[in-house]
Amino acid sequence: MTICPECEKEYEPIDIAFLVGFGAEAWMNEQHITGLCSDKCFDEHISGSRPEYTYDERGRRFENGVRKPFADPPR
Ligand SMILES: [Zn+2]
Repeated sequence: MTICPECEKEYEPIDIAFLVGFGAEAWMNEQHITGLCSDKCFDEHISGSRPEYTYDERGRRFENGVRKPFADPPR
């Protein structure tokens, strides 16, 4: 198990090596690289809150209702 450095929740990290070639999403790579559990925690940890984005219950990032795997640089 891993502790997310932003929300401090314990979660099971995704085995990205297993998922490569199976359509792994960008947030999985962000999680693997940073140890952050979700897009939401990634944004808050890296660039502060991003009011232009919304997040679903799994913390996946959306902009205007469209899935957004990568955040734009902060303004
Ligand atoms: Zn988190």
